[in-house]
Amino acid sequence: MSGAIFAANWKMHHGPAAARELVRAVLSRTNPREGRLLLFIPPAVSLTAVADEVRGRDDVAVGAQNIHWEPKGAFTGEMSAALAREGGASWVLVGHSERRHKLGETDAESGLKVAAALAAGLAPILCVGETQEERQTGRKEAVVRRQLEAGVGALDGTALAAVTVAYEPVWAIGTGVNATPEDAAAMHRSVREWLSGRLGAPAPNRILYGGSVTPGNAGALLAQPEVQGVLVGGASLTAESWVGIVETASGSVQRSGR
Ligand code: PGA
Repeated sequence: MSGAIFAANWKMHHGPAAARELVRAVLSRTNPREGRLLLFIPPAVSLTAVADEVRGRDDVAVGAQNIHWEPKGAFTGEMSAALAREGGASWVLVGHSERRHKLGETDAESGLKVAAALAAGLAPILCVGETQEERQTGRKEAVVRRQLEAGVGALDGTALAAVTVAYEPVWAIGTGVNATPEDAAAMHRSVREWLSGRLGAPAPNRILYGGSVTPGNAGALLAQPEVQGVLVGGASLTAESWVGIVETASGSVQRSGR
């Protein structure tokens, strides 16, 4: 495990033209840095445009926001892992809270998607996180463990070690209220403990934090050694704010010795 991942989840923003423009602006303002991965996660329609723009930058990769678990077939509106790869993705988000809570994605489906991603050679980022109500009723760890169990519990050790986890408390996503660095670190420890328990060895997985990350708070979050990257929505939509996060936070990562 080395370096940190800076993942920009554009959600339902930026078609191919806007995506190209934003990627160009970001890349012209960031120099490759040892061990740091910049990950663009555009809407499906913009995957090929983004993949085209990042060619030649080994420190940059492209991810899909979602895949279907079946390899092919009559699934109107869906994209398989293989199609995402063909479009230029090498990563994929699975179980983002908007898919779980707004679009009805189930725990079981997240497990099928992680398996499909790995089978097709895509690196999955399993998103987990509790709602405000689950937090207030003392169930945050139990909820996250249930999501881990369903998402990656059936994998063998090699496959499990290839999964990245993003802790994104639902109450922090798009709300302007982020988890404190200490809160995030505590949940990251709990996730790592679960992973290490499954692997029977210290887990090599990277664990990202997401939920209202901004240029103002990214540094403090990434200064926690438990936090190996960030998954950012709103603040990744403009070059100014995204480069602000990447540059500010890269300093904290270096100071924390990664
Ligand atoms: P946000 O979204 O940064 O806008 O809170 C994060 C995410 O949903 O991945």
